[in-house]
Amino acid sequence: MLIAALAFQILHLGPPAVDPQNREAIVKKLGLKRPRPVLTAEELKAHPKVLIEGPRDKKTLALTFDDGPHGDKTLTLMKLLLQLKVPASFFVVGKMLDSNKDVVKQLVRNGFTIENHTWDHPCLVALDGPHIDLEFKKTSQRIYELTGRRPVFCRPSGGQFDVKTLEEATADNLITALWTDDPGDYALKDADVLFDRLVRQAHPGGVVLLHDGVPLTWKVLPKFVKAMRAKGYRFVPLSDYRTRKRV
Ligand SMILES: [Zn+2]
Repeated sequence: MLIAALAFQILHLGPPAVDPQNREAIVKKLGLKRPRPVLTAEELKAHPKVLIEGPRDKKTLALTFDDGPHGDKTLTLMKLLLQLKVPASFFVVGKMLDSNKDVVKQLVRNGFTIENHTWDHPCLVALDGPHIDLEFKKTSQRIYELTGRRPVFCRPSGGQFDVKTLEEATADNLITALWTDDPGDYALKDADVLFDRLVRQAHPGGVVLLHDGVPLTWKVLPKFVKAMRAKGYRFVPLSDYRTRKRV
């Protein structure tokens, strides 16, 4: 999730702080000739169609799983979440839906929500308006055809977003859902490291970014859920956080 981390650095959302030189390097790395405007952290927090986190005065956490669906691996995760009685949102990649129709239907039947993670998982900030629009629209339409429900949230692929991607998401009736906790589960090998990162990052109203199809995550989830419940946390659907926004 290097790119996501870089995108967050651009937005000055959290440590490490960004110096202007670093920003230049990021822009170069993303291959952007003339980067479009980004929002400040304050603008982002106030944006009516952006969700970063839930209320900080309640001990809740919302789990989200990106980059699926992944066939049997997704079903393994689903069964684990059901056993743990933990709700979750799945931010799916549109082009992967047709080979996972039954998986998506099972997720919905079991109370999980399917949200929009673009069609092709591209670098959205390098695309023009019509292409960003197509990425969101095509995925929402396919999710609707498969589940009968239109997604409420989108998450920009790779965590890369700017003013234009937010505009296009809004025009497509989607709230851009960001996150507060990104332990980088897909790149880790050590369960203890993942567990420690998850616990360390967790705070009231947190949105936890995990990935579908990662066996290490399955291994750590029961311990993490137990540890957070012991601290008085409840796991809630991401949609519970929507009410605090003007959306
Ligand atoms: Zn992704």
